[in-house]
Amino acid sequence: MAAAAAGPERPRPSALALLGPAPGAPCCPHGPALLFVKTSQGKEEGRRFYACSACRDRKDCNFFQWEDEKVSETRLAAREEYNRNHQPAFTHRQNVDRRRFCQECQQLLLPAEWEKHSDHQFLCDITTAQLKSPSQLLYPLENKKTNAQYLFADRSCQFLLNLLTDLGFRRVLSVGTPRLHEMIQSKASQEEEFNVRSLLLDIDFRYSQFYREDEFCHYNMFNHHFFGGEAALETCRKFLCEENGERVIMVTDPPFGGLVEALASSFKKLMAMWRETENEGHDNKEMPMFWIFPYFFESRILDFFPSFSMMDYQVDYVNHALYKHGKTGRRQSPVRIFTNLTPSMIVLPEEEGYRFCTVCQRYVSSGNHHCEICNSCTSKDGRRWKHCVLCKKCVKPSWFHCNNCNCCTLQKHSCEKTNVGCFVCGKAGHKRSACPSLSHARAACQPDKKKRQKTQERVKMGICKRLALKHAIFSKRKVKNKKKKT
Ligand code: SAH
Ligand code: ZN
Ligand code: ZN
Ligand code: ZN
Ligand code: ZN
Repeated sequence: MAAAAAGPERPRPSALALLGPAPGAPCCPHGPALLFVKTSQGKEEGRRFYACSACRDRKDCNFFQWEDEKVSETRLAAREEYNRNHQPAFTHRQNVDRRRFCQECQQLLLPAEWEKHSDHQFLCDITTAQLKSPSQLLYPLENKKTNAQYLFADRSCQFLLNLLTDLGFRRVLSVGTPRLHEMIQSKASQEEEFNVRSLLLDIDFRYSQFYREDEFCHYNMFNHHFFGGEAALETCRKFLCEENGERVIMVTDPPFGGLVEALASSFKKLMAMWRETENEGHDNKEMPMFWIFPYFFESRILDFFPSFSMMDYQVDYVNHALYKHGKTGRRQSPVRIFTNLTPSMIVLPEEEGYRFCTVCQRYVSSGNHHCEICNSCTSKDGRRWKHCVLCKKCVKPSWFHCNNCNCCTLQKHSCEKTNVGCFVCGKAGHKRSACPSLSHARAACQPDKKKRQKTQERVKMGICKRLALKHAIFSKRKVKNKKKKT
């Protein structure tokens, strides 16, 4: 046995009695050794000796010393040195402290990198919980034009997750939805029965610090670019293969300032990737999708995805001062879910006032009344809309029919303003910036007349600056001003 090889002969363990800790006991790497003695028929027999307190197996720690043994200075020194070398490399304190996150660089730091960040703000003692919730650790990027990160309120995120699991989806392609991804990941790591997987595609590379390569791909949804090249594309392709019958849904919440046509083109490419996976029956189907976007983009989205419909559910965010559930009660968020799933399957929470309209076969907001003339629940913003017989459609409650302009509009509008001709084409109803004769790209994909009509509506609604939309929606001051007008 190993015993023979490692120093003095040892009594056989079967007949050992523990005499317990002894004051002044010698130490091994596991602390003070324990005193043992060999016994025979309940009686002590032979020399007492010290052995490791923690390790039963001599392979793990072969410390041994007779109780009355005289140990030389050199052996003691060597033992001390050995013990020191067999301690963990870092203290508990040091280990906890090693997990640092530089708030300025938004980067987890290795100790070797501390020096470089020494005059930056940093957090130490980063917990595993924090590592599992990167969206809380990272500050939201608020650059309006590019990243614009607006995180789902817990209630909305939970709703989305419940909805898609209830619908039987087991894989979620999270495109620009880091919060949803995070909720799925952390649930999956905590609950064994929760068998949903998510792949995050996002332009925010900071997330690569927290997820593996099969959990996050650095991706630009405006040009369908995978920064990780073919390998990343393959990761995505593989995820879209519905192995073991795990059905996949794509959920996306793009920055609202983004060009709808660019987004649509990328999403079509992702849909094509799904269709081209080797699953049967994908040929003339669309990958199920939730596209989260403001309601006033409805017609734009439908232009590109005619199979989509808009749900009444109001998506709330945490870092919008205006569109979260506040003490003052519910603020109305303009953000909705667009989906190619059958509307009647999208069950909205009744406790939040949503109800099922049997005629429309979908859930609608409490304030959304079914208009008998339009034969539809017509409200877009959750307020009760009213039917205008002259316009032959339902309009916002705050609008009235202006005979001058020959349409419904804000009470406080000035007829002249809209009647002043456009600087470019001279026609009434829009400004130069919204002139349909200038927007070649858009005019090309739509019948001209319909487009012009839409543009006019936009101008009347006061939201003609499409590119500044996100800003308009989420910067407090502007929304307030707009609110006053409506
Ligand atoms: N409500 C979502 C976050 C939406 S904010 C949630 O809570 O999960 C928009 C997201 O899109 C951000 O995560 C942002 O990083 C990402 N994004 C912005 N521009 C992008 C682009 N060009 N390509 C991919 N993702 C982008
Ligand atoms: Zn209805
Ligand atoms: Zn109506
Ligand atoms: Zn009218
Ligand atoms: Zn014009």
